[in-house]
Amino acid sequence: MPDRSDLVIRGGRVVDATGERQADVLVRDGVVAEVGEHSSVGRPDGARVLDAGGCIVAPGLVDLHAHLREPGDEEAETIETGARAAALGGFTAVVAMPNTEPPLDDAAVVASVLGAGRATACEVVSAGCITKGRGGEELAPMGELHALGVRIFTDDGACVTAGGVMRRALEYAHSLPGAVVAQHAEDPSLAAGGHMHEGSWSSRLGIPGRPAAAESAIVGRDILLAELTGTRVHFLHLSTADAVELVRDAKRRGAPVTAEAAPHHFTLTDAECRGFDPVFKVHPPLPTETDVAAIKAGLADGTIDAIATDHAPHVPEAKERPFEEAPPGMLGLETALALTLSELVEPGALSLRDALARLSWQPAAIAGLDAHGGPISEGRPANLCVIDPSVRWEVDPIRLASRSRNTPYAGRKLTGRVRHTVLGGEPVVVDGTAQR
Ligand SMILES: [Zn+2]
Repeated sequence: MPDRSDLVIRGGRVVDATGERQADVLVRDGVVAEVGEHSSVGRPDGARVLDAGGCIVAPGLVDLHAHLREPGDEEAETIETGARAAALGGFTAVVAMPNTEPPLDDAAVVASVLGAGRATACEVVSAGCITKGRGGEELAPMGELHALGVRIFTDDGACVTAGGVMRRALEYAHSLPGAVVAQHAEDPSLAAGGHMHEGSWSSRLGIPGRPAAAESAIVGRDILLAELTGTRVHFLHLSTADAVELVRDAKRRGAPVTAEAAPHHFTLTDAECRGFDPVFKVHPPLPTETDVAAIKAGLADGTIDAIATDHAPHVPEAKERPFEEAPPGMLGLETALALTLSELVEPGALSLRDALARLSWQPAAIAGLDAHGGPISEGRPANLCVIDPSVRWEVDPIRLASRSRNTPYAGRKLTGRVRHTVLGGEPVVVDGTAQR
């Protein structure tokens, strides 16, 4: 390892799972060397200083759910551009979803993704498929993928519909330390042919809907299978009140389940579809106001463990098709933190520390990423983000680092933004500008 100059993050408020305090952070050789008052940390010779005045210094954020599109759709995103977008959003680790082409159901493909992620602005962690080709029938070589470091297994984009296959996956995963089976809970036989949430807006617009029961039916079944097998199930992008209630009940019983929610599911409702703009098309679909309130309540009481982006880039041509022909998905990496601060923290639904728990240390724990999520203390890897919690900014699709432009938040004013991101002791974002 070459000599690297020391780094001092000066004048910020350090917030992690252990508490909060005003402190400078000294980073040396990739790890936190000291956290303390300005006078004790000082400024070692040649140290680089990152100003954090008025800012929060937090453990880097961890995204359990990003579609980086490589291999197969590099026009929409690459691992490099997705990682840059992630770093600008404050993330120091992202889990790359396996619905690539070819899919991540094979050790060689997973190894290539990990290789491509090595020198990027964010640690790229590969998920692995549950079933071969995400076809829902034959199990993928989960043991081989686990040996490469895969901990999150999912067919995301597709639901593992057959209960028997899900049970076998859970039984197999039981023997793999730290493995989690993550379900995209939408029963395709209920959701098929639907392009938005089934309800009053879908009837008014004449767009076929996907019923909330498509999600809750699978969530309910998989809770029972988690209890039957004793293997942890993680529910991706929970979007409905019924599903939140099922997870809440399951946790009360001590079932081994965790859950995440995406910012668009606590920010936007199905009413957004009234303009037939496919930028608002996503699976599971934007829900009702009642569901949005339930997602917020689930995040507040800890039923929902993590906020995950479901970052899903698409080339402009794909989203310029009619609503019913356009692919589902929206960008998320560069707006997730600001939406959390604007929609949850500012209105008082969540404390800042609980918000960071959902964005950083809880997802890090779910994915088994020990080097991420803090705490910010001596000897810990320096994966950090510095957040200016009060700056107001407007989302401009042109200025996003993602290769794609399909953000539903164009023109929206948000509060709070990442100022610096530090990955393994290296500043990868400085004053809002990517360094890699
Ligand atoms: Zn999904």
